[in-house]
Amino acid sequence: MKSITFILSIFAALLFVGCTNSTTATPKSSKARFQTVSAGQATLLQKGKNKESCVICGMHLQTFYKTSHAADTKTGTKKQYCSLHCVVHDNEINKTDLLNLKVVDTNSLKFISADKAFYVVGSSKPATMSRTSKYAFAKKSEAESFAKKFGGKVMNLYDTYTESMKDFKR
Ligand SMILES: [Zn+2]
Repeated sequence: MKSITFILSIFAALLFVGCTNSTTATPKSSKARFQTVSAGQATLLQKGKNKESCVICGMHLQTFYKTSHAADTKTGTKKQYCSLHCVVHDNEINKTDLLNLKVVDTNSLKFISADKAFYVVGSSKPATMSRTSKYAFAKKSEAESFAKKFGGKVMNLYDTYTESMKDFKR
């Protein structure tokens, strides 16, 4: 009888080991976001201890880099945002006068002038702070091929901004 209890206890111990193994072995699968780039690819234009965060919502700029925007204030301070949504918030709700609006080109990851950019609005790629995704491109042909692959409409800054304002209407 003793030997059976011994075997049972070993069996129980093995089960326990098996269980702990399976829980520790399960990786936390965190798939990288489409908007995210590596630290070396992200350009931070603002200064100060919070330079890595959106000035409006505080989200990490590198994580949402491909939808990042930047602008200057009248006093020359540079501000960086996670998305056009937060630009609209600063401009329309906080009534901050913003100059020289820039946006990240989704392909080159460089900042380009937003009023010369071609935005793809409403693609299947994830949106930042909005229900409608908006990605900008320096070249019209690149915006068109993105829209062909992932859906959405190619728009200029004015129409994209107007689209973004819909987020604030209830
Ligand atoms: Zn933001």
